[in-house]
Amino acid sequence: MARILVIAEQRQGKLSESTLELCKAAKAIAEGLGAAPAAAAFYKDDSIANEVAKYIPEVISVVDAKLENYSSDGFAQAIKAVVDSQDVKGVLIAHSYDGIDLAAKVAMVLGAGIVSNCNKVAVNGGQLVFTRNTYNGKIQEERSVKTDKFVATFEKGAFDKEAPGGAGKVTAVSASIGDIRTKFKGFVETQAGSVDITQAKIIVSGGRGTKEKDKYNDVIVNLAKKLGGEYAASRPVVDAGWTDPARQVGQSGKTVTPALYIACGISGAIQHVAGMKGSQCIVAINKDPEAPIFNIATYGIVGDLFEVIPAMMEALG
Ligand SMILES: Cc1cc2nc3c(=O)[nH]c(=O)nc-3n(C[C@H](O)[C@H](O)[C@H](O)COP(=O)(O)OP(=O)(O)OC[C@H]3O[C@@H](n4cnc5c(N)ncnc54)[C@H](O)[C@@H]3O)c2cc1C
Repeated sequence: MARILVIAEQRQGKLSESTLELCKAAKAIAEGLGAAPAAAAFYKDDSIANEVAKYIPEVISVVDAKLENYSSDGFAQAIKAVVDSQDVKGVLIAHSYDGIDLAAKVAMVLGAGIVSNCNKVAVNGGQLVFTRNTYNGKIQEERSVKTDKFVATFEKGAFDKEAPGGAGKVTAVSASIGDIRTKFKGFVETQAGSVDITQAKIIVSGGRGTKEKDKYNDVIVNLAKKLGGEYAASRPVVDAGWTDPARQVGQSGKTVTPALYIACGISGAIQHVAGMKGSQCIVAINKDPEAPIFNIATYGIVGDLFEVIPAMMEALG
C-alpha cells in the first residue's frame, strides 16, 4: 500500500513536537486517500525510529553515524534509499529551518509537486487541497499538486499532537551515505540560558503600550511568572531593548502556538499576528476598542493594561 511518510525531526536526540503533529496529519491524509501512514527516521542509531514508532504504525529507519545531525546531503541520500525501496505517495515535513531545506530535495528525489508552509489540508474527492499562508499571513490560499506524488511542509501548530499509542513496526533500510559536503560544528545557543518561547504553554506578551522597560518588566514579566509561563514581546519592545530578541513574536521573530497567549498593549499588526495567530486561546488587553488584535482575540479586554494586569494579579492571589 502506498505510504504517506512523515520525516521525523530530532534535535540533539530529542524528537520534535512537530513530528507528533505530522503523525496526526499523516493518519488523516492516509485515511482520506486509502494509503498507509508511516514515518522515516534518519539517525545514528534506532532510538529516534523507536521513539516515533510510539505514534505511528510503521517507521522506516536509516541508521548511519553521518545522520546524527541534519545535513542536506546526508538526508537526501537517506530519503532516496527509502523511496527506492518503498511505495511512497506523499511526504510530510515540518516547516522548520531544516525542513524547508530538505523539502525541496525530497520533491526532486520523488519527482513530486511541493506545497510549503501549509496550515491545513483536506481531501476532496481523492484530491488533496492544502491551505497555506501568503502575504505574511494576510491571505490564505488553497493549492493542490498536479503530480501523482506530493511533498508538503506544515507550520508548527497546524495539527494537534498525536498521542502515543503502542509500538509501531520499525523496518530498517540500508543506505550508503557518501560524501557530506558540509561539516556540523556544534549547536550554538543564542544566549547562555536563553529561553525557547516556542515551547511555552502560556505566553504573556507586551507591546509598545507597555510604555517603558521598567513598566514592561513590572507588568508583563511579573504576570508571566505568576502564571508559570514565559514573557514575550512585539518588535518595537525588542528594538527598544526592553527585552531579549529571542522573545520577539512575529514575522521576523518566533512563531508560537501556546495554549494561552495574552497580548497586552499590542495593536495586532499583521507582522505580529503572523507569529501568534495559531495560539489556542488569545486574550487581548488594549485601551483602543478598534485595535486589530481584537479581530483574532478569543477574549478581548478594552482597558488600560496598567489597571487590568494589576487587577488580574490580585485576583490570582
Ligand atoms: C518586515 C517587517 C517585519 C516585522 N516583524 C515584526 C515582528 O516579527 N513582530 C512584531 O511584533 N512586529 C513586527 N513588525 C512591526 C509591525 O509592523 C508593528 O509595527 C508592530 O507589531 C507594532 O507593535 P506594537 O503592537 O507593540 O505597537 P503599536 O502598533 O504602537 O501598538 C501599541 C498598542 O498599545 C495600545 N496601548 C497603548 N497604551 C495602552 C495601555 N495603557 N493599555 C492598553 N493598551 C495600550 C495601543 O492602543 C496600541 O494598540 C515588522 C514590520 C515589518 C515591516
